[in-house]
Amino acid sequence: MTGAPTFERVALIGFGLIGGSIARAARVHNLAGEIVTTARSEKTRARVAELGLVDRVVERNVEAVRNADLVILCIPVGACGPVAQEIAAHLKPGAIVSDVGSVKGAVVRDMAPHLPDGVHFVPAHPVAGTENSGPDSGFAELFINRWCILTPPDGTDAAAIEKLRAFWAAMGAKVEIMTPDHHDLVLAITSHLPHLIAYTIVGTADELAQVTESEVIKFSAGGFRDFTRIAASDPTMWRDIFLSNKEAVLEMLGTFNEDLSKLTRAIRRGDGEALFDHFTRTRAIRRGIVEVGQDSAAPDFGRPHPQLKTP
Ligand code: NAP
Repeated sequence: MTGAPTFERVALIGFGLIGGSIARAARVHNLAGEIVTTARSEKTRARVAELGLVDRVVERNVEAVRNADLVILCIPVGACGPVAQEIAAHLKPGAIVSDVGSVKGAVVRDMAPHLPDGVHFVPAHPVAGTENSGPDSGFAELFINRWCILTPPDGTDAAAIEKLRAFWAAMGAKVEIMTPDHHDLVLAITSHLPHLIAYTIVGTADELAQVTESEVIKFSAGGFRDFTRIAASDPTMWRDIFLSNKEAVLEMLGTFNEDLSKLTRAIRRGDGEALFDHFTRTRAIRRGIVEVGQDSAAPDFGRPHPQLKTP
């Protein structure tokens, strides 16, 4: 999808997987007259300049947001409040300020008080990602056919919401609007809890050191491998997600523990019928996800493995 630029100047605060993917997609679809980005470290700034994907990479956030029509914070959720405070006085009147954080309630609470009147705050979460991070990890197709959830506070300017919706839609995303609390509850079960389980199981295996050194790695294709992919996700990002979405995650964890106890009991009692019924139900959920196009029916998540080592 191409068309006239929807924003004259877009400022991306942070250039990792998500910031880098937005830059690439915005370029491909011609959605910004100019893209300015910041990155915290010298190393990332040097790499971003080398990649040549943006017009300017600067050190200071306040410099990037000057005269920008759209400012998107693409940084860990725990950093959003302090950065909002830092850039607030330098935002252009009428600018749209957004983010991409995986938690919305805490981000809204942390950012909103700092933003001046006349600036439109439209928080967003593209539900798309990989376990990779850093400036080289992004790609223009990341958002295609993925959801982007907007959580604008009550009373947000409708034209600003529509403009941001159109921006994400042009990058290929399907856009939905919901409240921050509802978003956090839904994502607690669909994303945050699965990550916690992956971090747990990979950590548990690691503690069984004598096994990890040999059999766990050797036989990882038995299921463990897919957990290791999720458990390789960025530690800073996920620390911030669990600290920021504490209540919803704890609520889901409570339900999960009850369900785990039921399955534990079924195994202990040799209740094959209970296990079979449960697994039949979960298999149908997987089919449903494939049917709505959120994954491929191909085995192994449909991912090719060009670098896969053959023994
Ligand atoms: P990433 O690849 O690790 O990139 C993070 C970027 O933020 C880097 O440019 C980093 O700069 C910068 N940064 C880190 N800490 C900062 C701080 N305290 N102040 C200012 N800048 C800082 O991360 P990402 O995957 O793009 O994630 C960014 C956001 O997107 C997070 O809020 C995450 O919740 C959300 N999100 C992630 C995914 C996913 O699957 N990864 C999916 C949807 C949404 P340096 O490189 O210089 O350190």
